[in-house]
Amino acid sequence: MECKKETNLKSRCNCSYPICPRKGICCDCIAYHRSHGELPACYFPPEAERTYDRSIEYFIEVYKTKR
Ligand code: SF4
Repeated sequence: MECKKETNLKSRCNCSYPICPRKGICCDCIAYHRSHGELPACYFPPEAERTYDRSIEYFIEVYKTKR
C-alpha cells in the first residue's frame, strides 16, 4: 500500500507544529502520540491545536466546554 502523505498534508493534517518529521504520516503520528497518552492534532479545533497540548485530558476539556 502506498503512503498517502501528500494527500494527508493537503486535505487532512491540520498540525501547525513546524518541524515534526511525522507530519502527513498518520500511522507514525498516531503511534507517537498514543505512546505518550495523547491524541494527534487532527482531533483538536484550530485554537486548541495551536497550544500543542495533545493530552487526552485537554481533549476532554476542550469538548466539554464546547457544549
Ligand atoms: S500531531 Fe504531533 S506527530 Fe502529528 S504531525 Fe503534529 S506534531 Fe507531528
